[in-house]
Amino acid sequence: MAIKLYDSLSREVRELRPPHPLGAFRFYNCGPTVYAPAHIGNFRTFVINDIIRRLLELEFGASNVKHVRNLTDVDDRTIGQAQKEKRPLAEITKKWTDLFHADCASLNCIPPHVEPTATGHICEQVDMIDVLMKKGNAYRSADGSVYFKITSFPEYGALSRIKERELKITNSAFDADHKDDVGDFALWKAYKPAEDGDVKWTGPQGAAEGRPGWHIECSAMIKKHLGDTIDLHTGGVDLLFPHHENEIAQSQCCNGTTFARHWYHSEHLLVDGGTMSKSKGNYYTLGDLVTRGYSPMAVRYALLAGHPRKQLNFTLDSLHAAESALTTLRAYRATLPFTGTASDVFTPVFAALEDDLNTPAALGALFTIVNRRGGDAGSGSFDRVMFALGLKLDAPAAPTTDIPALVKALAEKRWAAKQAKNFGEADSLRRDLAAVGWTMLDSKTEYKLEPLKK
Ligand SMILES: [Zn+2]
Repeated sequence: MAIKLYDSLSREVRELRPPHPLGAFRFYNCGPTVYAPAHIGNFRTFVINDIIRRLLELEFGASNVKHVRNLTDVDDRTIGQAQKEKRPLAEITKKWTDLFHADCASLNCIPPHVEPTATGHICEQVDMIDVLMKKGNAYRSADGSVYFKITSFPEYGALSRIKERELKITNSAFDADHKDDVGDFALWKAYKPAEDGDVKWTGPQGAAEGRPGWHIECSAMIKKHLGDTIDLHTGGVDLLFPHHENEIAQSQCCNGTTFARHWYHSEHLLVDGGTMSKSKGNYYTLGDLVTRGYSPMAVRYALLAGHPRKQLNFTLDSLHAAESALTTLRAYRATLPFTGTASDVFTPVFAALEDDLNTPAALGALFTIVNRRGGDAGSGSFDRVMFALGLKLDAPAAPTTDIPALVKALAEKRWAAKQAKNFGEADSLRRDLAAVGWTMLDSKTEYKLEPLKK
């Protein structure tokens, strides 16, 4: 078998090339911006990428895969949040990184081998910008920022098929790093005291103090941790333009070689038929759903119920269906004889997954086998299917009422701030608790934590 996956650059379903005999399969996917809790639309992308990681391990061997996913811990949004809360940037990003990790673990996503941060790779980004300036692909502007010159890279637009004229019109509309007159994008942003607080570093040669633009971080981290050319680059479809287009431009101009051999993008998640928004009341974090009584495994199952390259409509009903599907799988597992993995009864499930990651067809094939209850299915071969789908059947069926560690830590901090009569800090922590779905009821001597009702 071979994994076939749609390639967004060539616009066709292609086999993934096996890794070079002397190296691992190099897989990169763009990670979260850590300034708020990730929502289930974000987690659709991360769960789909987790299936890719699992298939790569099954296909090439776990030790022949290297998976890197970044953390964006400095950009307009993270700095904006730190400024709003009047707290250090690192404190804000650590808090949301911890929650992201906890959510990924609940959803049974395998952690990447390397999880680099933007702030941990300033030198690498500055080095890359220096090279781009030397090669004539980048220039300094009057305020000491550095921009990538799009006309220096004739292939710009190949991934998104965007034309030069459209670029000038659309860029400024949805990316603060783009210059609206020419479409050039920022590699380095000069320090602005009123907006940036204390967030600044020494810049590239001749540039002002400041911070890297958003796009350069992925190019620099990929070069450092995976090399000049990678085998697979993935992300949500919202990153295709301009972010991935810009990554290609930066990396190919700096390194002089192909950046990614294969590009894959997963589609958006809709909730109750529309885009998620807080005002519509259809905006969910994983914590929100667990608070309502659903298990993280049911959320994972529901996120796999639609084809990853089509929009998926997520509803609370789909979570009920997912809980009952998991109950069926648990009961089925209990009836299986203990065997090794050598059985081909589940081949149709793997065939669907390897055919452009058709997760709904894979689940359909699985339930055909489960309902028939025949063949030579054994626990070993069934567990291999559960590994590929990342479904952990020993996870609790119903959610526990345990209070998450992050919530307990925030509550302790808030209580201490209140005792010290630091009411601004206490209020800010109360808002953090609300953002993850909890509230504190205070008496004179103690407090109680309760999930927020919606
Ligand atoms: Zn990226």
